[in-house]
Order: sequence, then structure tokens, then C-alpha cells
Amino acid sequence: MVDGTPTWRSPSLARAVAELEAELELAWACLLAELDVAPGTPEETALGWLVADGPDEHDWRVVDAALDRLTCPLCGSTLTHGPVTCHRCAYYHGMRFAARETDRPNVSPGNEHAIRVSFAVARHRARYSPRARVGYELSLPGLVAGELPTTAQAQAAKALINKLTPGECDEVVTLAEVEALARTR
Ligand SMILES: [Zn+2]
Repeated sequence: MVDGTPTWRSPSLARAVAELEAELELAWACLLAELDVAPGTPEETALGWLVADGPDEHDWRVVDAALDRLTCPLCGSTLTHGPVTCHRCAYYHGMRFAARETDRPNVSPGNEHAIRVSFAVARHRARYSPRARVGYELSLPGLVAGELPTTAQAQAAKALINKLTPGECDEVVTLAEVEALARTR
């Protein structure tokens, strides 16, 4: 994580995020090697902006890795990690979703999209409401393991989450916990 050490909702979420962050690092290292760019050089930074401004040319891991390496010229934070009021961070956070998503073999189509969105939400949780982020954060470990909830399952989970208070949304660690709380309403 680029903004210090966050406390993740659960150990399984922490593991899923760490696994994906390692994939980001690998994807970036591969691009540098491919283009013969040395890490830590101005050329690397220039390449980062090129990728950030043309996300549709690259896999989302490469785009997210590029953003992690850039500093926002407006707020001085790692790009996209600044305050929600920073327009430049908001712009590039939105732009990232134009990146390419290629499903892994042997997973349901759309799994990769679900992973990249959930990962972005988990790492930029201040941009989302407690009710919005809980669903993404609870589903990420399963998505990384290759699962993809059906539309009906996703809607059922959403209905349960809507019965929780915002405070409860930020505290639950599993979907079973969401179900147990929702049953009392
Ligand atoms: Zn900013």
C-alpha cells in the first residue's frame, strides 16, 4: 500500500490485496524490461505518465502500478491517493477503469473486471461510502480465488448489506456476519 500501512478488514482481504500488489510490481517490472527503461530514472516517471494518460493501451495491473509511482502535481500525494477533493486524483482514479481486463483461464467471464474494481475500491476506500465498499471488500478474496457471484447472489448480498448501519458495514469481516446482523432487523 502506498499510503502507509492500512488496517484491512480481514486477514483474507490483506492477503488478496498483497497478492495483487505483487502482481502489479511484476507487471511493471516486465514493462520496464520490455522497453529497456531503468527503474528509478526520469524515463520511468515519463513512462508512468504515458501509461496513466493512455490506460486503454495497457493491462489494468500496469496502469495501477504506474499510478502508484506518480505524484499528484496538485496535492502532492501519490496519484489518486490524495484527498477526495483533489480533482486531479479523482480524474486519474476514474481514468484507470479504462484499462484492459483479461480474464484468467478457467474463471467465469467478468471475474477480472470484478477483481480490478474491488481492488481499486479497497485501496481507495475513502472515495466510497461504507455501504458501497463493504460488498467489494468482502468479495475480493473469493474473486482472487476464481469465484464470481451470480447477479442474483450479488443482489441478495446487497439487500442484506442495506439492512446494516454504516458503522456495521465497516466492522463486518464476513458475509456470514452480514447475514446474521441482517436477520435481526
Ligand atoms: Zn491529488
